[in-house]
Amino acid sequence: MILIDGTATAATIKEEIAQRVRQILADGGRRPHLAAILVGHDGGSETYVANKVKACEVCGFQSTLIRYEADVTEQELIDKVIELNNDDSIDGFIVQLPLPRHIDEQKIIEAIDYRKDVDGFTPVNVGRMAIGLPCFISATPKGIMELLKRYHIQTSGKHCVIIGRSNIVGKPMAQLMLQKIYGDSTVTICHSHTENLKEICRTADILIAAIGRPAFVTADMVKPGATVIDVGTTRVPDATRKSGFRLQGDVDFEHVAPLCSHITPVPGGVGPMTISMLMQNTLLAVEKNW
Ligand code: NAP
Repeated sequence: MILIDGTATAATIKEEIAQRVRQILADGGRRPHLAAILVGHDGGSETYVANKVKACEVCGFQSTLIRYEADVTEQELIDKVIELNNDDSIDGFIVQLPLPRHIDEQKIIEAIDYRKDVDGFTPVNVGRMAIGLPCFISATPKGIMELLKRYHIQTSGKHCVIIGRSNIVGKPMAQLMLQKIYGDSTVTICHSHTENLKEICRTADILIAAIGRPAFVTADMVKPGATVIDVGTTRVPDATRKSGFRLQGDVDFEHVAPLCSHITPVPGGVGPMTISMLMQNTLLAVEKNW
């Protein structure tokens, strides 16, 4: 069994990006600039954004954090998005989700110019990805593809089963695994109403779990020799930790890992890749001629 090390891979990717930035600057180019809009004081969102700002430093990017209190209006946010769309000093930006309930997230996302949508959430980028056009691919599925590639996992002609059909993980993951260039798999998507889920999972050469239910994937759902990718990150109470919780994946790692050819741990698998893919998208925003 080979443990897929997302932490080490992400560090390598960030170093590759930093090298490219040094080259851009040496050639007289401008430092890539990523902006993030953060609304309110949700602990998880604060941590994610702080990690993104830190990653910008590692990659040699400029970063700008724009903060609003939780009572910001939808119109104020849309106005800021439009301002960022038109600001030539900013290559790409993200709006950290979730947003407070009184704000329609979809409306905010749709206001983002797809050429600056480094999260890859706008309908234009989702559509371009679906038909294989140049686009920003959302960071978590993009990071999984990068792990599969860098660990030389054969995907062409293989059966890939994805559990979960969210817009940010399951669906784009399925699109990417279907594409001819890399992926080229036979893809099955499962969800909470799938019948015979266990049997379907057992036919997977590559099993990707994006559910949000700790230890959902058990050993009897995994074909020996399969590659298992665990996207799940659920906070479960843990009194032994300073934070009072630990992250638990969707896979019963202890019993599934011995069966696999490759498996991602939680934490340290898919998670660290996500931010490095956001950095890669920002670099793409600089280098792309849309
Ligand atoms: P989501 O929007 O809640 O979607 C969960 C999916 O799992 C849904 O499609 C749901 O089916 C399916 N599901 C739930 N219970 C099921 C069951 N008993 N059997 C089969 N399918 C079931 O979640 P998400 O945003 O995709 O996130 C999934 C997990 O990945 C979460 O733990 C999240 O924290 C984690 N995540 C991690 C990263 C990272 O960077 N590592 C990034 C994003 C998400 P229905 O559609 O039928 O409801």
